[in-house]
Amino acid sequence: MAHKISDECVACGACAAACPVNAISEGDGKYVVDADVCIDCGACEGECPTGAITE
Ligand code: SF4
Repeated sequence: MAHKISDECVACGACAAACPVNAISEGDGKYVVDADVCIDCGACEGECPTGAITE
């Protein structure tokens, strides 16, 4: 299971910078995790200021 970004995302980009495999990119109004690339490391979770990232 890849990590997911909810609608609480404010598109700040902090998570994308933290992802070691570049699985996060800017989508339509919020950031999105590419499930095929995510290795479920959890590095992005602590970076999100709104707690929008969940397992
Ligand atoms: Fe990237 Fe790790 Fe977050 Fe997956 S869990 S999106 S690999 S930082």
